[in-house]
Amino acid sequence: MAELGINNFYAVRIDGTFDKMNVRSEYKQEKPYPTIVEALAADQTFFDLEKVEGSMVGVYCPPYAADMNSAGWHFHFVTADRTQGGHVFDCVVNKAMATIDQTKEFDLALPGSQKFESTDFTVDRTADVKKAETNED
Ligand SMILES: [Zn+2]
Repeated sequence: MAELGINNFYAVRIDGTFDKMNVRSEYKQEKPYPTIVEALAADQTFFDLEKVEGSMVGVYCPPYAADMNSAGWHFHFVTADRTQGGHVFDCVVNKAMATIDQTKEFDLALPGSQKFESTDFTVDRTADVKKAETNED
């Protein structure tokens, strides 16, 4: 693996026990799909898990990819029995093993639907992404 830097994509998996895990989940959404901010305002649920075993998976997107995804690290967690989890806001690791992949290439599949073709992706979603990632305005 080449030297780790900020311009690559990374994937990390952290398996272990966590003294604290604060996550958020939303309910399944139906068409016509709301924006992420609308969905979070309507039905997000927070879970404060304690002394829990599971896996945290994170993806790092470099700053130049911010128009495609949230730049920086983004972590999700699932319990070992796969019954609880969500978007990670905070955690305290007790004991864990981390594996990291410097992702040199990936496939991007575009929907090819009429909705995709007519959606305006030039709208600035920076505030929406911040709200979704941090739950702060
Ligand atoms: Zn998330």
